Amino acid sequence: MMKHKYDIETLAIRAGYTQTAEQENSEAIFLTSSFRYDSAQQAADRFSGAQAGNIYSRFTNPTLRAFEKRLALMEAGEACVGTASGMSAILSTFMALCQSGDHVISSQSIFGTTKILFNKYLQKFGIEVTFVSQTDVTQWQNALQKNTKILFLESPSNPLTEVADIKAIAKIAKKSNTLLVVDNCFCTPVLQKPLTLGADIVIHSATKFLDGQGRAIGGAVVGSQELVGEEIRGFMRTAGPTMSAFSAWVFLKGLETLIIRMQAHCQSAMRLASWLEQHPAVEKVFYPGLKSHPQYELAKVIQTGAGAILSFRVHGKLKQAWQVIDATQMLSITANLGDAKTSITHPATTTHHRLSPEERLNAGITDNLIRISVGLESIKDIKEDLGKGLDLIRR
Ligand SMILES: *Cc1c(COP(=O)(O)O)cnc(C)c1O
Repeated sequence: MMKHKYDIETLAIRAGYTQTAEQENSEAIFLTSSFRYDSAQQAADRFSGAQAGNIYSRFTNPTLRAFEKRLALMEAGEACVGTASGMSAILSTFMALCQSGDHVISSQSIFGTTKILFNKYLQKFGIEVTFVSQTDVTQWQNALQKNTKILFLESPSNPLTEVADIKAIAKIAKKSNTLLVVDNCFCTPVLQKPLTLGADIVIHSATKFLDGQGRAIGGAVVGSQELVGEEIRGFMRTAGPTMSAFSAWVFLKGLETLIIRMQAHCQSAMRLASWLEQHPAVEKVFYPGLKSHPQYELAKVIQTGAGAILSFRVHGKLKQAWQVIDATQMLSITANLGDAKTSITHPATTTHHRLSPEERLNAGITDNLIRISVGLESIKDIKEDLGKGLDLIRR
């Protein structure tokens, strides 16, 4: 864990970049695949590692390096590796740190594609995955095996915002000599720093809040120099799921406004959640900032804000949920999240449609459930747009 002399507000804007001879104030984009050397000797020294410096943008690019350094400092980590997507960040972590015969314990409430990566692809290489409850710490303890290598979770979960006790699960990881990997996509380092809670590795889909304006696909892994700086960087360099310099620049500039965006997202989400909880057409609201949330107290301890994502059940079935979605005129009907634009999603028929009806029910993804990623528009306009369909539901 690293403690920097600057606060996170300053790091988000200033850290990681070295000005070039052009004296630019805003960070430059280095759109170059390779780099030139002064001499054959310098080329040899770069390749042997005798001299640090740029070689080839699959693994050394100044714009990407600036993004990596900045995010590492914001997450209180020693090292960061940028990747082509959030999924390739997860893949790179498991490919670099696991081998055939290893066992993984994962929360069952993780991003759907991550679950498929585990079930369909990791299993193919002899890595066994056990899924446990996001919120029942004893299940994590009981699932440990001699060959367990990694504990994996994402908190709060999507779409029901279950909050994991990261500190308690990190203790289990320490005691059992396993690694805790946390997907911190929903909170970002602004609301939660898993490394300071005892996690070993943090994963990001930069596609979401780090960009914050829905422009680019990318990911990142943050952690110690040994695990991330050496092991995961080594896999990245060799396998090549690299973040492009252009995307790195988009995310670098995104980080500059991340803090005030997250604060505004949280404020609007809280107001929307409270409003929905009072609405006669709404059966139940899931948001960690509400006192009715089962992990309200825990979230207050490990997060500095309740986040931008909430979900709610309307009175009725699929028909009523779709009615609310289709009555909106301003919100974006899309499965994406973490955007300045508020998005509205029907999880049962989109993000979670690949689960069987039984699995969906077990996971709480009912047909009357709607997920909102609260954006940065006027909260009055968001409520009005949602209200159109809600007012159609008669009780
Ligand atoms: C979107 C998402 C991912 C995958 O990220 P991509 O950038 O789309 O590959 C992983 N984890 C969580 C929690 C996500 O929301």
